[in-house]
Amino acid sequence: MTLRQELAQEIIDTCLEMTRLGLNQGTAGNVSARYEGGMLITPTGIEYDKLTPEHIVYVSGEGEFEEGKIPSSEWAFHLTCYQAREDCHAVVHNHAINATAVSILNRPIQAIHYMVAASGTNEIPCVPYATFGSPELADFVDKGIRQSKSILLQHHGMITVGDNLKKALWLAHETEVLAELYLKCAAVQQSVAVLPAQEMNRVLDKFKTYGLRVEK
Ligand SMILES: [Zn+2]
Repeated sequence: MTLRQELAQEIIDTCLEMTRLGLNQGTAGNVSARYEGGMLITPTGIEYDKLTPEHIVYVSGEGEFEEGKIPSSEWAFHLTCYQAREDCHAVVHNHAINATAVSILNRPIQAIHYMVAASGTNEIPCVPYATFGSPELADFVDKGIRQSKSILLQHHGMITVGDNLKKALWLAHETEVLAELYLKCAAVQQSVAVLPAQEMNRVLDKFKTYGLRVEK
């Protein structure tokens, strides 16, 4: 198998795992990996269980598609993530229920739990709404993803990035768990308690030293 085929298969496996984890609603999610100055990304309109490595689309750094294939309609913000962060080699996007619910409330996920630091910062931001697939949305994503490896998109869903597909998917699952925790707490008490900045900085430091638990 070539590197491209291996990566394409990994993208498909990530999509299937995203469904198993309950993060995906229909075929709303899309997944990509950095590849040769651009990226490999899931195509538009093909169900995950029908995907083969040949379906995965190469999009160049200039946003040109490989001939005869059409990438996910949300390809633009994937490319933005690779351009915004050198440490980003994989992007996961979905409309997971709890994360999307928090995005509808248009709130960030503040430091309600120390695992928020898995995003590389002390708050998972919610970037403003713009039409899916639009350059405006890609601009909002650009600003958000520079701050945090996990972001919410208002009235839409979430994006996570990582240095490989496993880490990006792991962070997507963590983000959904944190969103569920937030909603449970906010339902009982309007103002949800957060950890002090000093403690979050300590946790952020520990994550830097020990790394995340997911290794490729
Ligand atoms: Zn979407």
